[in-house]
Amino acid sequence: MDYEEILNKIKEKTKLSDEDLQERIIEKQKELSNLVSKDGAAYIIAKELGVELFPKKQERRLQIKNIVPKIRILNIKARIARIFPVKEFESKGRKGKVASIVLADESGTIRLTLWDAQTEIIGKVKEGMAVEVFGGYTRPDPRGGAEIRLSKTGGLKLLDDSELPELAKTAPAPSAKQFSTIEKLKEGDMTEIRAAVVQLFETNFFYTVCPECGKRVTKDNDYTCADHGKVEPKKNMVLSGVVDDGTGNIRVVFFRDNALKLIGMSMDEVLDKEDTFFGDLDVLGKEFLISGRVRKNKMFKRLEFVANDVKEVDMKEQVNKLINNLKKNM
Ligand SMILES: [Zn+2]
Repeated sequence: MDYEEILNKIKEKTKLSDEDLQERIIEKQKELSNLVSKDGAAYIIAKELGVELFPKKQERRLQIKNIVPKIRILNIKARIARIFPVKEFESKGRKGKVASIVLADESGTIRLTLWDAQTEIIGKVKEGMAVEVFGGYTRPDPRGGAEIRLSKTGGLKLLDDSELPELAKTAPAPSAKQFSTIEKLKEGDMTEIRAAVVQLFETNFFYTVCPECGKRVTKDNDYTCADHGKVEPKKNMVLSGVVDDGTGNIRVVFFRDNALKLIGMSMDEVLDKEDTFFGDLDVLGKEFLISGRVRKNKMFKRLEFVANDVKEVDMKEQVNKLINNLKKNM
């Protein structure tokens, strides 16, 4: 930066006149026994007046696209792209709250999930705000990505809006990590939702099918299959409940393996416990990725979701539980 440039910068920021500035520089040189050049004196004056001659070095900021699962201490600056309101749930007599925020930067988006007292954050933030997440950590997301959680000492700090670039007005291309929101589901959609189970219905858990072809057979017709005659029926499971993703809720029907995946049990375990299994379930409040199809329930004239696949979001917890169960059984 040459002398003229320094003068221009100072004038621009301070509105000092050219003469004033020249005079100050000469005085500064005198003050320093003429040991500094005009340039040197101009630098010093700029500093004294708080004029930044060089743009601050671009801070190296962690980009969302580089966040991986299993980061133990995470700090990140990003903008709030979306806020999912607080949902209450009850699980085994314990009331809980869950909410989430989608954070975005120029590289992508990531979900921050808040639990219980942390959900108070939701009332204090707005979409578009620049924030810093501190004391976070990440967990794997079943879709191969990561999501952020807050540790006990973690939180959100509002940043000055100028600290982060504006997000592009054109939304980033939806990545594979995006889900449908329940509020936007339409009849016939084949999609995936990410939602918490808020209700599970205690009705007819089982139905009977022909073991050969899987067609429904019932006691009323003496378990007679149209194609295979009288058969020894096979019991299948069906569960239905309501899930909520913050944008809305929908009734979901889980047949066979999907019902078992939802409750994390095998058919043998369920049959062992018979109808008492229901009281032991620990499903409410848990979040799942559910892919499936939206259909219209003709009797009730409402949309419902038929699950094709179910995955619990909190895989780590599930694995820990499995390990604990194994230990218990050893
Ligand atoms: Zn049959």
